[in-house]
Amino acid sequence: MSVKRAKISLKGLVQGVGFRPFVYRLAKELNLKGYVLNDGRGVLIEVEGDAENIATFLKRLHTDKPPAARILSQELKFLSPKGYKDFEIRKSQKTAETEVLVLPDLATCEDCLRELFDPADRRYMYPFINCTNCGPRFTIIERLPYDRPNTTMKKFQMCEECYREYTDPKNRRFHAQPNACPKCGPKLYYWERGEITAEGNEAFEKLVGELKKGKILAVKGIGGFHLMCDATNEKAVSLLRERKRRKEKPFAVMFRDLTQLEEYTSPTELEKALLISPERPIVLVEKRRELAPSVAPGLKRVGAFLPYSPLHHMILEAVDFPVVATSGNLSEEPIVKDNDEATKRLSELADAIVLHDRDIARRCDDGVVKVVGGVPIYIRRSRGATPLPILLPFGLKRKVLAVGGMLKNTFALGWGNRVIPSQHIGDIENLSTLRSFDESVRDLLRLFEFEPEAIVCDLHPRYETTRWAEEFAKKRGIPLIKVQHHYAHILSVMADSGLPFGEEVLGVAWDGTGYGLDGTVWGGEFLRANYQTFERLFYFKPFRLIGGERAVKEPSRVAISILFDLFGEEALKLDLPTVEYFKPFERELLFKVHQKGINSPLTSSVGRLFDAVASLLGIRQKLSFEGQAAMMVEDLFDPSVGDAYPFTIKGREIDLSETFLGVIEDRNNPSLAASRFINTLARVVLEIAKRVGMEKVALSGGVFQNDPLVGRIKEYLKGEGFEVLTHSQVSPNDSGLSLGQAVYGGL
Ligand code: ZN
Ligand code: ZN
Ligand code: FE
Repeated sequence: MSVKRAKISLKGLVQGVGFRPFVYRLAKELNLKGYVLNDGRGVLIEVEGDAENIATFLKRLHTDKPPAARILSQELKFLSPKGYKDFEIRKSQKTAETEVLVLPDLATCEDCLRELFDPADRRYMYPFINCTNCGPRFTIIERLPYDRPNTTMKKFQMCEECYREYTDPKNRRFHAQPNACPKCGPKLYYWERGEITAEGNEAFEKLVGELKKGKILAVKGIGGFHLMCDATNEKAVSLLRERKRRKEKPFAVMFRDLTQLEEYTSPTELEKALLISPERPIVLVEKRRELAPSVAPGLKRVGAFLPYSPLHHMILEAVDFPVVATSGNLSEEPIVKDNDEATKRLSELADAIVLHDRDIARRCDDGVVKVVGGVPIYIRRSRGATPLPILLPFGLKRKVLAVGGMLKNTFALGWGNRVIPSQHIGDIENLSTLRSFDESVRDLLRLFEFEPEAIVCDLHPRYETTRWAEEFAKKRGIPLIKVQHHYAHILSVMADSGLPFGEEVLGVAWDGTGYGLDGTVWGGEFLRANYQTFERLFYFKPFRLIGGERAVKEPSRVAISILFDLFGEEALKLDLPTVEYFKPFERELLFKVHQKGINSPLTSSVGRLFDAVASLLGIRQKLSFEGQAAMMVEDLFDPSVGDAYPFTIKGREIDLSETFLGVIEDRNNPSLAASRFINTLARVVLEIAKRVGMEKVALSGGVFQNDPLVGRIKEYLKGEGFEVLTHSQVSPNDSGLSLGQAVYGGL
């Protein structure tokens, strides 16, 4: 028998997934001696013993590894035997450079659920039950390596029984860092009118009782607080809207299980699979039966999700209605995560607050997923997915920090062959979100011990993130790289779909607004792009946004501007909902402003074209949240409509004059007009793709959250032999920008 010693260093998702106990069991089984430990780079293993057994060990390391584990790289060295006596799990080692991946928060597993509702189990109805296969990760880690003293669980001393589980390699809770029980772990507290009035099970009973009475409760979760109320109680839901100052933007609804969810909605098989995945995102599904009318007013879909923490399961089991679970904050502010912050900021919004004493290390909103063109895409990639990396088919040359855009911000860290997009930060339009952005960047830099060698931002001079990046670059003395908004969108979808370095695509970047190279507002762009450069090939003929920012919130202003382009002053005499929306004196004024172009920038934005259609069809004249009009137009789509309106291409400009004449003509049949309009846009893509003649067409930008539009484009293009690249790992909207920026800045 030849004795050998192998030293194996693994990188990837190997901490917090039960990797060490797996290695321990495998080594024992194969009669190998040595040790396994977590270090800052991943997992380090030494095995000594029979050469053949070592070979088996190396193979099974990959084939039998725990389900959540991902090995990204392996270093292997054979050394002379040392004479180890046994195999052991050693204490974690700190290394100079951190390269380990952190796991996202995982939904409660089936085993834990069974125990949670088993009256004989010692964790019966214990809202913090978890094991190696489930529970919080990203939101409790303070520093690496992932070990209990480095998490917010450090203040809880495990009781004897918990400690026995934690140290037994055969136990499901072996090194489950948040392991706890009612004897030794975190607890619920019920807070009302300035004081704590109940604890533990009593707090839970009060919470359930108040929800049943139609009250609004703030409930501390995994990545922050939710505001909860009965989703079938219109009085409660509309009061929540009033208090939260959120007019119509849909609320997410948590259902007990798929059975209850299917009473109210009609998820497809794919949507069901997404709903029950350990990530447990909010999934946009079609309504079947109305919940309280103000849950998602005027929309076909509702954001639905299933319980993902033990407390959620307990709540939904105890009440017999689905529950609105929306982030605990005032509109436009970051989600609240700390107890004292909650009692200050949420006491006005909620009738009572349910706190617990497991601190949340960093805020992380719920993620949102929608099936678009047959493929799930992120509307928001956050809790459950962050901080998993996007793997690149090439290596970055330097460590890069990309700050993202302004709306729906995420930032990203890129190095080697990976980019880690941050959790959802939000719209950075006020001081509190800017502060949250600043804190979150510093937090992830600290967590990953990441020293950026370059920083990337948008070209827009007035984005807060651009200013932040300029200052950061100056302070650190590192280069600042600015990337044009729509190019960053296309870079993002290129990286997202794994396009190799050196290839190029026809990039279709359609969104609300972005700062163009020529100082106008872009948003309907066709770009020839590779990872190093781009060229603007075609765009929609620009039109005026009357009143600038105001036009972004008032589709009627965009529509009347298009009417002025089509009919001149005659537009004012037209019998159209758009015109009627304005008072007679306003109409005259708007015409003059349009003529002179005062505070009316030119744009090619497709997002605004959708707004204009909504206005012309009389569906929506003013928005109460971003994207609302486009969603309503999307909802009108009828797949049985196959034809489209005419359009013309002059030089590099796509002229939709005839398209809009068609929309106006069909205005009494909004569904027909909306369907033909969407088909027209898809035909535009096909026509340009044919003219340009590049094989790969990549779609990115917020407009491509539109399911029928993406469906039609794929149908038309694939029919003519084109390959269509779309997003799957990050969002096509502005939250996906940071990936594109990171890739550009890292190369
Ligand atoms: Zn579990
Ligand atoms: Zn315990
Ligand atoms: Fe954009």
